[in-house]
Amino acid sequence: MLTEYIDSTERAAEIIRMGGLVAFPTETVFGLGVDATNGDAVAKLFQAKGRPSNNPLIVHLDDGRHWARAAAELPTVAEALLDAFCPGPLTLVLPKRQIISDEVTAGLATVGVRIPDHPIARAILRTAAVPVAAPSANRSGRPSGTTWQAVSEDLDGRIDAIFTADSTTIGIESTVVDCSSTHPVVLRPGAITLEQLQQVVPQTREFGPVEERRRLVSGEPVNSPGILHPHYQPRAEVILVEVPPVGISVGVSAVSAFCGTEEFEGLHEFALAKIFGSLEDYAGGFYEFLREVDRRAFERVFVQTASEDGIGLALRDRQRRAAGT
Ligand code: AMP
Ligand code: MG
Repeated sequence: MLTEYIDSTERAAEIIRMGGLVAFPTETVFGLGVDATNGDAVAKLFQAKGRPSNNPLIVHLDDGRHWARAAAELPTVAEALLDAFCPGPLTLVLPKRQIISDEVTAGLATVGVRIPDHPIARAILRTAAVPVAAPSANRSGRPSGTTWQAVSEDLDGRIDAIFTADSTTIGIESTVVDCSSTHPVVLRPGAITLEQLQQVVPQTREFGPVEERRRLVSGEPVNSPGILHPHYQPRAEVILVEVPPVGISVGVSAVSAFCGTEEFEGLHEFALAKIFGSLEDYAGGFYEFLREVDRRAFERVFVQTASEDGIGLALRDRQRRAAGT
């Protein structure tokens, strides 16, 4: 397939309406959009990404008032979160509407709904006027694409079009909150923190991969299968470190890269190193750094774990999973 490189939101919407696959920017990472009501098109998307079919997709809408295009109901707590944080980097898991194809939700009775806060994404969604399922625009398991060039590396020739926009700003995926039962439960950390959610709905709880794995082993239903698959992994080995690796030998540093937030003596020995000035910058540039490590064929990358403040907690989650731990 020949991939079109486009900069027209009308063209993007047209391709989506015709059942095609279009990568476009959001404020978190680039998404790969497809008409969520078209089961055949959705099946093509899973194939293009090489995504396991039991990993549900998030449905994107242009406006929170249109929630009923994807969801069967909007529980009171979900309405409160929608009002407070949408448009924005928050995905609400809600009871699913019939019209959303079962391929999108991997057979679950719920659907993840998000209203991105990005002018290009919203214009495409508005013009397409259908619910758009959009996972991150990368080959499954790889770091998400935060530049159109990264998307092209993974998906050129496999999808219909790539929107050549600026790099994304937040750089890690949305916070996913299950609102389908009594209390909201955070299934995936993101830029919107648990504390922020609790300011609006104090009963909001955290429910991490550990609990999911326990359920999987005990045969209980899994809420968010996607968080169990390998994710965000470069080809290089990822080694997490709390403090910079001081005194590393020259042989090792020649084939190793480093990223973190702390300057240290010996930093210059790494052939590729990046110190981020803030946690926001670190989150914004992390995936692109991992990709650069692969482009330059480094054997390993030392990753200084982010502190747990604000977006740092979500970044830590991605770092841990990039390391496969
Ligand atoms: P990605 O599209 O790569 O950003 O991943 C989407 C994430 O949202 C995965 O972790 C999914 O498991 C999660 N997700 C999407 N839809 C649902 C749903 N209906 N219930 C629970 N989690 C969901
Ligand atoms: Mg993804």
